Amino acid sequence: MTASENTGFNTRAVHAGQTPDSSTGSVIPPLYQTTTFAQDGIGKLRNGYEYGRGTNPTRDALQSQLAALEGGKFAFSFASGLAAEDALIRALLVPGDHILMGNDVYGGTYRLINRVLSVWGISNAAVDMNDADALASAIAAGGPEGATKMIWVETPSNPMMKITDIAAVAQAAHAVGAVLVVDNTFASPYLANPLALGADVVVHSTTKYIGGHSDASGGAIVLNDAAAAEKVGFVQFAVGAVSAPMEAWLTTRGLKTLGVRMDRHCANAQSIAEWLLARTEVERVLYPGLVDHPGHELAARQMRGFGGMISVQFKGGESAARTVAESTHLFTLAESLGGVESLMNYPSEMTHASVKGTELAVPVNLIRLSVGIEDVTDLIEDLDQAISSL
Ligand SMILES: *Cc1c(COP(=O)(O)O)cnc(C)c1O
Repeated sequence: MTASENTGFNTRAVHAGQTPDSSTGSVIPPLYQTTTFAQDGIGKLRNGYEYGRGTNPTRDALQSQLAALEGGKFAFSFASGLAAEDALIRALLVPGDHILMGNDVYGGTYRLINRVLSVWGISNAAVDMNDADALASAIAAGGPEGATKMIWVETPSNPMMKITDIAAVAQAAHAVGAVLVVDNTFASPYLANPLALGADVVVHSTTKYIGGHSDASGGAIVLNDAAAAEKVGFVQFAVGAVSAPMEAWLTTRGLKTLGVRMDRHCANAQSIAEWLLARTEVERVLYPGLVDHPGHELAARQMRGFGGMISVQFKGGESAARTVAESTHLFTLAESLGGVESLMNYPSEMTHASVKGTELAVPVNLIRLSVGIEDVTDLIEDLDQAISSL
C-alpha cells in the first residue's frame, strides 16, 4: 500500500513524500542542504534538479506531504506564511483587481494587502463574511478600478475565532468568477480541508500547527487548478521566497505528528474553555467547541474538531487582560501559536498591533491562548493562579 489518496490522514502524514532515499536506503529523506546540483553535461540534470531557488528534494518532500494532507494536486512551500500570501496574490491578480477579505483576518494579512499590495495597484475592502447580504453587496461593488477577483477567508479567525461557511462563500465567489482563498492555519489540514468544501486555494502559515514545534518558519499554498499552479510556481521561482532546506526538513518532521498533536490540542482546549466559562472574572470565552459559540454548529459541520486556540475577554477590561497575560508561568507570553508548548498573547499590543485603530482592531480586554499538549491539569492550575491574582 502506498500513501495514496485512499489512506487515512495519519498514514499520509507519515508516508506522503517520504520514500526512503534510493541510494542509501535512509528511512528519513535526507536534508539536502545545498544551493546547487551538479550537471552531467550542459543542461543534463539529475532528476531535474538544477538550482536551489527553483527546486530542492527536501522542499519537494514537504510539498508532496502538504498536497496529500490538504487533498490538493499542487503544493508550494515558502519562507513564511506572508511570503506565501504575497506570492499567491501577485501570481493570480494584476494591478486594478480587487480583493475582498473577512473583517477579522490576521493583522499581517491585512497589512500585506492594505499597505504593500495596494501600492502595487490592488484595491481591497473588508466585510463580515457571516453577513450574506453585506457579502453580496461588497462582491458586487468591487473596487475603484476593477471587479472582485479574490475573496479571502480565515476560519476560525485570528483572534476572534469566528467561523465562516466556506461552501457558502465559495458559491458567492464563483458566481462572479472570483477565486476563494481560505487561510486554514488555525484548523490545520487535520481538522478541515477547505478545497473539499469548494475553496480554490488554501494557504497556511506552517510556522504554526503544521511545523508544530515553534522552530521553523514557513508558509504554504495548496490548490487544484493547473493553470493557477503554474503561475504560483513561476512566482515562487522568479521571486524566490522559498523555504530553506532546513526549515522544509523540520516542517516535514513536524507534520508527521500533526494528527496526534491536534487531538491533544483539541482535548486540552475544550477542557480549558469550559473551565474558563465558569470563572466569574471572565466576560466571554471565544471557542467554537462551546455550544453557545455562534459558529459552533457550522464548525461541527465543516471541521473535524474545534482546535487549540481560545480567546478570552475579561470583565476587568484592559488591565485585567494585561495582568493575566503577564502572570502565567507555563503559558509563555509570546507571539505565534500552534506549537507543543502553551503560549499566551495580548493581541491588541502584540500580534494585532498592526490593525490598531482600524475596523479590524482587537478588543483591549482580550487575551489569546494557544493551548499546548502539556497535561491539562497543570495548564488549568497555571491559569487559575493568574486569574486569581485579579
Ligand atoms: C501567523 C499567521 C499568518 C502569517 O504567517 P507567518 O508564517 O508569520 O508569515 C497568516 N495567517 C494566520 C492565521 C496566522 O496565524
